[in-house]
Amino acid sequence: MATNSKSGNSIESARRTLAARLQSAGIEEAALDARLLVGAALNLDLTGMIAQAARRLTVEEAARLEQYAQRRLAHEPVARILGMREFWGLPFRLSEATLVPRPDTETVVELALEIFRELPTSGRRPLIADIGVGSGAILLALLHEIPEAFGVGTDVSLTALGTARDNAAALGLSDRSGFIACYYAAALSGPFDLIVSNPPYIASADIANLSAEVRDHDPHLALDGGHDGFDAYRALIPQAAERLAPGGALIVEAGQGQAQGIETLLTAAALIVDRSPRADLSGMPRAVSARKMPA
Ligand code: SAM
Ligand code: GLN
Repeated sequence: MATNSKSGNSIESARRTLAARLQSAGIEEAALDARLLVGAALNLDLTGMIAQAARRLTVEEAARLEQYAQRRLAHEPVARILGMREFWGLPFRLSEATLVPRPDTETVVELALEIFRELPTSGRRPLIADIGVGSGAILLALLHEIPEAFGVGTDVSLTALGTARDNAAALGLSDRSGFIACYYAAALSGPFDLIVSNPPYIASADIANLSAEVRDHDPHLALDGGHDGFDAYRALIPQAAERLAPGGALIVEAGQGQAQGIETLLTAAALIVDRSPRADLSGMPRAVSARKMPA
């Protein structure tokens, strides 16, 4: 029978009990969430948790774990409770203004890296822009992989920009990155070798139907793509096209069923759609790219 987290329970039994409570509340990934929350409440990594499996929880640890359990049972995502999320194997701190970076967005990083490696060398420092940078997930993953590049992230949220800047510092990337408040790419000049973006793309009317984890905890500024979900693409694609270097590439994340509509906008902005969208792990076309005509 699943009961509250009690001091005197072993770490292993606290983990199992929490997994059972989360599972009976219908929370997906209950086992993983329980492991992460026990680890956070006890400040132990997986190895520590295994090594100390039989140790009893202190009163303070049990109280902290119970607080985390209540928050998760109320559908707050684990990443919000922990205040951090791993993306591309790197740690990202979160704030209330930042989207929790999604594993699907790693598809954008993968495709951007593949395209970057095909670009002709220009003889100057590669320049990357991330429009709607949020926590910095995409931009900082790319800078981590491309040590010679400099990157600029934009956002309309000053709080998100502060979080991205803090993440850049924590990852040792401050001297290769800049963060600018503006409407999509409006304040940027370039020319950029790569422009990436995971813009808000959920149709406004669909937001009410999202899971509580997303609807009640991700900032709506990061989600709301207007009446058909395409407002951000319509605004940023022409801006990005103007700011790409000849031969440079734009890579954007697509929501469900949006890849084709995005390709139409890319072509209308005189960009060349020269490869199929890259699918995410579920097989959905997730990253869409186009090139600016080479010189
Ligand atoms: N790049 C991050 C990621 O992939 O996890 C965050 C993506 S989130 C879906 C979209 C971001 O765009 C949010 O941080 C939001 O604040 C920002 N945003 C929304 N409208 C914007 C605008 N008009 N100009 C610039 N950024 C905007
Ligand atoms: N991928 C996010 C979701 O479906 C949405 C993020 C976005 O609008 N770019 O919850």
